Amino acid sequence: MSAENLFILTCILCTGDVMRLAFLGPPGSGKGTQAQILAKNMGIPQISSGDLLREAVQEDTPIGRKAKQYMDKGELVPDTIVVDLVSERIKNESQFLLDGFPRSLSQAERLDEVLSQLKAPLQGVINIGVPLEDVVERLCGRLTCSQCNAIYHTKYSPPEKEGVCDLCGGHLFQRSDDTEAVITERFQTYREQTEPLISYYGEKEMLINVDGTQSIEEIAAAIEKKLHRI
Ligand code: AMP
Repeated sequence: MSAENLFILTCILCTGDVMRLAFLGPPGSGKGTQAQILAKNMGIPQISSGDLLREAVQEDTPIGRKAKQYMDKGELVPDTIVVDLVSERIKNESQFLLDGFPRSLSQAERLDEVLSQLKAPLQGVINIGVPLEDVVERLCGRLTCSQCNAIYHTKYSPPEKEGVCDLCGGHLFQRSDDTEAVITERFQTYREQTEPLISYYGEKEMLINVDGTQSIEEIAAAIEKKLHRI
């Protein structure tokens, strides 16, 4: 049995049905889409640091105004903002799927501390691997619902009615950081700050690797298959 499978099996033996996972992958790998699918299927909250930050920006709070300066440039928002935002959101949840957090070694270490205080450690990290050249097209066509944050794509998963969310009827918009210039910067940020987390969680035998070059349905099935061994 591989270390990955042994880890997954150990999870269930220790924790029953409780699931606390994080999604890792470059921008456009589909981690948000997959986190939403799994969250819906399992009835577990999906907690996206990007969504939490965009909500703060939309509400024009002091945190939102500060975060926007970094988000517009494709840079990471400082840990002091993001760690507090996510910690506050997870503190009353026994299960969750983290999407976009942690995104750096310092965030991963802070998350370990917060979860160890809550006596609810992270069980695994789903790493969606995609070659970087594949993802620019995905991001340029991405549409997000302004109300429920559902994710669509003009080509790969279009809504039934143009510009309108199938789920809640909300208005679909293109994120201001899904432009080629900002996407390039976001990749650079991913390479430098987030990619080291693959080794971090790999060494802890927490990594669940999934091939992100497949269709949305195939990736979702691959994730469920690995988790159903739980
Ligand atoms: P996302 O929706 O995950 O693609 O995130 C959009 C933007 O929000 C990123 O480019 C960052 O500027 C910011 N952001 C999201 N999550 C984090 C995080 N964990 N740490 C720092 N910045 C983040």
